[in-house]
Amino acid sequence: MPTPRTAIRMDILRGISVSPGIAIGEAVILEAEDYRIPFRTVPEKQVSDELSLLETAFSQSIEELGKQRKWLRKSLGREAANVFDWHIGVLKDKALRGDIEALIRSKHAAAYATSTIMRKYQRRFKQMEDPLLVERVRDVQDIERRLLRCILGEGREDLAHLTKPVILVAHDLSPTQTAHLPDTKVMGVALDAGAATSHTAILLRSWGCPGVIGLNDVSTRLSGGDLVIVDGVNELVIANPSRTTIDEYRGREADYIRLSDELSGLSDLPAVTRDGQRVSLLSNIEFPHETSVGISKGSDGVGLYRTEFLYLRPEGAPSEEEQFEAYREAILRNDGRPITIRTFDLGADKYTQERSYEQERNPMLGLRSIRYSLQNLDMFKTQMRAILRASPLGDVRLMFPLIVSLMEFRQAKMTLRDSMEDLEEAGIPFDEGIKVGMMLETPAAAIQVKEFCREAAFISIGTNDLIQYLLAVDRGNERVSQYYTGSNPAVLRALRDVVRACTQAGVECGLCGEMAGQPLYTMFLLGIGLRIFSMAPANIPEIKKLIRSVSTTQSQRVARRALSFETERQVTNYLREETRKVLPTDPI
Ligand code: PEP
Ligand code: MG
Repeated sequence: MPTPRTAIRMDILRGISVSPGIAIGEAVILEAEDYRIPFRTVPEKQVSDELSLLETAFSQSIEELGKQRKWLRKSLGREAANVFDWHIGVLKDKALRGDIEALIRSKHAAAYATSTIMRKYQRRFKQMEDPLLVERVRDVQDIERRLLRCILGEGREDLAHLTKPVILVAHDLSPTQTAHLPDTKVMGVALDAGAATSHTAILLRSWGCPGVIGLNDVSTRLSGGDLVIVDGVNELVIANPSRTTIDEYRGREADYIRLSDELSGLSDLPAVTRDGQRVSLLSNIEFPHETSVGISKGSDGVGLYRTEFLYLRPEGAPSEEEQFEAYREAILRNDGRPITIRTFDLGADKYTQERSYEQERNPMLGLRSIRYSLQNLDMFKTQMRAILRASPLGDVRLMFPLIVSLMEFRQAKMTLRDSMEDLEEAGIPFDEGIKVGMMLETPAAAIQVKEFCREAAFISIGTNDLIQYLLAVDRGNERVSQYYTGSNPAVLRALRDVVRACTQAGVECGLCGEMAGQPLYTMFLLGIGLRIFSMAPANIPEIKKLIRSVSTTQSQRVARRALSFETERQVTNYLREETRKVLPTDPI
């Protein structure tokens, strides 16, 4: 581990935790275009080379911009071209260039020096009062990227080639980028953007590596090589920590590992309340191999397989055969336990390669999920054939996402029947009695739950989306994340009503949103009668411990009281207090 550079001040940033561990290491900054700018010094004799690299980058950038400005002026007019005038003006600013050169002269590599100084500029713009000037941050980022592209050329480094464990710092990561992190040496993540239930957050949680997101400007505050602590327990990122802070965190890291070891001792025990109520704890997975991770954490099966991750890869659409192989692997790894395969939930923040350039004005309300599948029937039927073919291999269930209306659910089931007929004609066996359920994640579905109970074999509540649509808060937008909470009384009442309606109708009802894995809500959910919880495997041990520590009557009392409050703050404070009584040593 590097020693902290003494001249730099310790900086503490607060964000949203995606998973609770602690990671200490060097920062690597990932640019929007996948540039990774490591902290790099160069020997004295290389300084002049780095300076001429910078010189070329500046002149090349100015030349490129000049050409673009000319083209823009001709096609869109003078005003549109003005933005490039500003970029050129910045690049001609002697003070900026002088600052970068000074850093190179103190033996830093050109890329590192450029990135560090440009970040300082970005920070300066961010602090300005005039919102128009704040908007200029994007332009400065653009200029930085242009310079870096010239400096690094094709030889730019990517995350796959990291040689030592690092903390990844970025403005944002797409779900696709995040999905590849487990194959790298990244051991902690800090992001400017993101909210607790964004898909990027969900993937980071599944992976189980410490992460704090929604930090606003961490990517401009840090430079490659800075020492960073990601504290997923207290939702903090500490940049350039003092020696005392590092020592303190080494101790906390050890405590955290001890607690995890203690929890892993529960993996073979059932999730049963003190008065003997058995609860099913299932895993949410994005990739087949995670099934085994879930089992090692003590899960009873898979409650949600987010299959769309098969699509979010550079190679594009998976064939029926590739899908079949993935489903087969997940089912076999699950070893006879139930597994619920959800059909593609594409759109919103999860776009296919073909759609990745498509801009929707309101993606969360746009062509996403079951709507997208129903408009792309070939793709949809291919997926259902692959699932059906794999269905005799285990206890497989099929689930449709984001159902809003009965018509939509019926249409999806009709398409499934078409796929069944295709297989029958081809003489391919499948489970004819496969259970077909739906995700209840829209207010409309919650209101019509009784009708859905007549047509669905099971219902799984998707609180991530349900909260977003009930409270009108984009689940992935850090600017409104303070409004996004499961503690809102409207959310609690909707959950109570849905669970009650399903219980009365005798329809199996689970919950697979992030709330299922949050200890804060465990007693409430038990108290309203929920008995199937599906969550990121990493959360299973703690939830199991909590369930084994409480009784049904105790949870019912907690749920009743929680439902009596009028504001989310009262609910959160009350639930935190009650949870702390049961698990005093756990971070909640
Ligand atoms: C949900 O919305 O709660 C859910 C589990 O689905 P996803 O997070 O994939 O949208
Ligand atoms: Mg959802």
